[in-house]
Amino acid sequence: MDATFQPNNNKNSVSEMTGYFGHPSRRRFILRTVIPFFTVAIVLNLVAAGLLYWSTAEADRIAIERQRALVDLVVSQLKATIAHEQESVTVWDDAVEGIRAGNGEWLDLNLGSWMNTYFGHDSAYIIGPRDQPIYASIEGAVAEPGRLSDIWSQTKPLVDELRGRLRSGDETGISDRVLTIGASEIARVSGRPAIISVKPIVSDSGEIEQVAGEEYFHIAVRHLDDSLVQELKDNYLLDGLRFTWTDDHAPHEAVSPLVDSTGDALGYYVWSPYRPGSVVFGHVWPVLTGMFVIGMGALSGLLLVLRSRSLSLNRTQAEIRHLATHDILTGLPNRVQFEMRLAEALAAAEVEGRAMALLYLDLDRFKEVNDTLGHPTGDMLLRQFAERLGQVVGEANTVVRLGGDEFTIILRGIADQDEVEQICTKLVETARHPFELADTQIFIGVSIGVAIAPKDGTAAIDLTRKADIALYSAKANGRSGYAIFSREMEALITERRELERDLRAALTAPEQFDIHYQPLFAARDHDIAGVEALVRWNHPVRGRISPDVFIPLAEETGLIEQLGELVLRRACAAASDWPVETLAVNVSALEMKSPTYAMRVASILMSTGLSPHRLELEVTETGMSDRDGNCQTNIAALRELGVRFALDDFGTGFSSLGRLQELDVDRIKIDRSFVTGFGTDNGDEAIVRAIIDLAKATGLKTTAEGVETIEQDRFLGEIGCDDLQGFLLSRPIPAVEVEALFADRLSGRHQRASTLQNA
Ligand code: C2E
Ligand code: CA
Ligand code: CA
Repeated sequence: MDATFQPNNNKNSVSEMTGYFGHPSRRRFILRTVIPFFTVAIVLNLVAAGLLYWSTAEADRIAIERQRALVDLVVSQLKATIAHEQESVTVWDDAVEGIRAGNGEWLDLNLGSWMNTYFGHDSAYIIGPRDQPIYASIEGAVAEPGRLSDIWSQTKPLVDELRGRLRSGDETGISDRVLTIGASEIARVSGRPAIISVKPIVSDSGEIEQVAGEEYFHIAVRHLDDSLVQELKDNYLLDGLRFTWTDDHAPHEAVSPLVDSTGDALGYYVWSPYRPGSVVFGHVWPVLTGMFVIGMGALSGLLLVLRSRSLSLNRTQAEIRHLATHDILTGLPNRVQFEMRLAEALAAAEVEGRAMALLYLDLDRFKEVNDTLGHPTGDMLLRQFAERLGQVVGEANTVVRLGGDEFTIILRGIADQDEVEQICTKLVETARHPFELADTQIFIGVSIGVAIAPKDGTAAIDLTRKADIALYSAKANGRSGYAIFSREMEALITERRELERDLRAALTAPEQFDIHYQPLFAARDHDIAGVEALVRWNHPVRGRISPDVFIPLAEETGLIEQLGELVLRRACAAASDWPVETLAVNVSALEMKSPTYAMRVASILMSTGLSPHRLELEVTETGMSDRDGNCQTNIAALRELGVRFALDDFGTGFSSLGRLQELDVDRIKIDRSFVTGFGTDNGDEAIVRAIIDLAKATGLKTTAEGVETIEQDRFLGEIGCDDLQGFLLSRPIPAVEVEALFADRLSGRHQRASTLQNA
């Protein structure tokens, strides 16, 4: 039998589960979740880092490009600026006249040192119409005009070009800002880069006559290192700027070539460029690295949570699986598992070449326990019953609760039918033993239907159907017993339907029913204490049918009220003038539940003339109480009239010792099954003795049913049973025979009972 699943005490199963899910599932988790997640995260981060790197490099490249353009612009603007500055003195009447007058001092002041101090030109020269040196100023000081030779080789082409243009009247380039044409070039002067700019010295008013091409020229030289470099550094923040003749620089440095008018690189400006991208990157990377670390940490945390969630989900799933396959109340496997187990057992039986049995069990009158004692007691009963089943069939076999009070047992590897029958007998016995529930003892029986594989089939569906039919048959044969499937049972259901139809018809033609009477004898002296009316049905085709068959059918079809009334009326009529104290009549629980029952009984008593004090109604425990209280009302009303009540079949189906005191009865009829059990090792003697003692203590009379042997007769008398009923003393007999019996008695002739007493 399966172990009960206990959700609160499942430490073992949890550790088992982690053991079970542990290794392969962890590997699966790492392979399917951890690695892909981290790969995606790292790739995304790498792409982001790449993008960042690219954008900073691009920002740097654009910035350096700008700085380079700036250097170029400054140099080319400088050329225009120098020319413009020259024009402040070269387009001037005074200057033309000053030169013509040969006023050296004036020249120096206005065209030489002025240009140095005011504009920062490095040197200035004046040449005459035939290129003869007239004046020179170097670094702000007057110098030998002959020093022109220092720059002549670089300047001569400019001078020649300018004279040519002046002669030809070429005025290209003259504008609002540029008053005269000029020529300039970037060149190496005294080992330093410089701008050489040449401008003609002309009249600003136009009043001084000059021959085109014969003008004096002013030559300005501005070096492009020292002061310019300093200026660029200060104004444009070109860090570490310097001039070099060759293109030698560190890898991180930027270079801008100094190009002359022919496009040749004369030298190079080199500086450490401002890299805004790198600066931003420098600020950003610690933050990004931190975010990456935090992100990875968060991802790990997330995965851990995910992992623990999925583990607990697995655990819940396992619990759900258990719940789905087990019955909560008893912990037994349920219908879902039953189908699996049955399929397994059938497959195993086929492989092993052995037989297996399927048992369907149904508690007799379990519904009545629930109705009268409440559901919690019913649940307790089911749990105890489940335990007992487990004890009987052992662990190798499966006990399943299908629902309600239905159980099945799969017996594997059985040798023969005898073995199955032995187990069934044990099961029936174990169910007959009282259950200790809610301070009382409850008697209940079980009916079992059995199908055996391969005899009755090897398909699960076949076997379950046949076990069910066998169960139906077991119930029809009087409860608390078992039936093994046979072919004839299959006809049972059709037969039952026909029987129902016939029963309905019979009630319209009541001559088919006979009443037999079974005498009851006082245990003490074997005097006739009463008779019990037992109905007989003589079916026109089937012959006599047992009340055990047609009474349950009448109950199920609702025909019982009609039938009960018929029996009561006839029995009362027959017994009214019999010289016997008690007429016992059986009443179905269903009749007792009718609100008009007491009234109908009273009317029958009136019309037949039987004294209510002579009538004893036999009711099972179910007939003693119901939800609406109709049973109780009927009993109370009839007892008021003087009618007595007996509790029938005590000990079978559902009976409770504890409730005896509470029930409104005058007598207990101890079921035949206990009497039959005397002399076996079931301990039935002890139970019967207890019932009788309790009944006596409560002031109830007792009748033992089914007395068949002298030993039973004697024992029952010894333990204080009041009345006896059974084949030993008399079978149920027709009314005429009852009357003959009384006649015999009255005439004092020998009769069976007194013979026995002497035996
Ligand atoms: P019951 O009320 O327990 O009636 C006693 C049954 O036990 C009778 O079966 C009787 O023939 C049988 N019996 C008596 N002494 C012995 C014995 O020594 N050995 C054996 N083996 N059996 C013995 P019967 O007549 O077949 O009736 C079966 C059941 O049908 C009755 O059991 C009763 O519950 C029901 N029944 C019979 N007549 C009526 C009726 O008119 N109305 C209702 N509601 N039920 C009835
Ligand atoms: Ca009875
Ligand atoms: Ca009985």
